[in-house]
Amino acid sequence: MDLTRSRRNFLISLSSATAALTGAEALVGVSRAAIPAQISRVGDKYINPKKVLLWECTRKEIREVLESDRLKAAIVPTGSTEQHNEHLAMIHDTASTLLVAQNAALQLYPHVIVATPVPVGISPHWMERKGTLTLRQDTFLAVVFDICESLKTHGLRNILLLNGHGGNAGPLKSQVPEWRQKLGIQLEACSYWEAYTKENAAAYMQSGMAMIPGHSAEFETSFALAAFPERVRREGVDYSKVKLNLKSSKDAEDDRMYYRDSLLATAEKGEALIRIAVDWVAEKMSQMIKQS
Ligand SMILES: [Zn+2]
Repeated sequence: MDLTRSRRNFLISLSSATAALTGAEALVGVSRAAIPAQISRVGDKYINPKKVLLWECTRKEIREVLESDRLKAAIVPTGSTEQHNEHLAMIHDTASTLLVAQNAALQLYPHVIVATPVPVGISPHWMERKGTLTLRQDTFLAVVFDICESLKTHGLRNILLLNGHGGNAGPLKSQVPEWRQKLGIQLEACSYWEAYTKENAAAYMQSGMAMIPGHSAEFETSFALAAFPERVRREGVDYSKVKLNLKSSKDAEDDRMYYRDSLLATAEKGEALIRIAVDWVAEKMSQMIKQS
């Protein structure tokens, strides 16, 4: 019974978080205006989960929380809009990172705010597949830096760049020391899947660390099945007929391998994996706040 209740609560909290994804979805032209406002349990209180999303706040709300000194840190989610095989929506990396960021911020409410996610990343390696959008590395880094500088201007002195797309990870990490110095604030960068270890990955995934983050495989598909199942669409996907039209036969082989691996995905695995990532990010953020 406990398990059923905890699964139900988890799904309620995820659906609240998903309902609050209006910022990212507005950026891809999807309206979720029809979804009613919901509340999430935070400690012994129930609050609207949109309260931790900067773009959903009014300037009065942000000003007041800054002036009261309760707001200590910001998370800047970075994602991508890129092909995710035949069965998963392009926005996956942005939506998954935002969901982890929002739930971590809710755990630390009211001390952490989530900035508007960066919805396009560095994805030139996927341009052969239709639909992918990519930014040049300099453009992407300039956008992220300007967001950090804006946050610093408003008085935020702890910023975590929380990434959800492999192509952004290296460039972000290598910029951090320089940006930290330029901005004179505490700044960290990580990808949310750094939460996983050989042990916890093996506990929930058949393919283990080999497919974390992988690409549209067991890990990402499980995440999506748990958090936003409408973004997993396998109807009509038939690898015996699909024409991938990729120049490299290795790329085509990998594409099929990711798809086969995705068939291992379940919502239950996704729920367990999301919990690990959310707790890990909340802990990281809380350490940053303590050190400041
Ligand atoms: Zn992805």
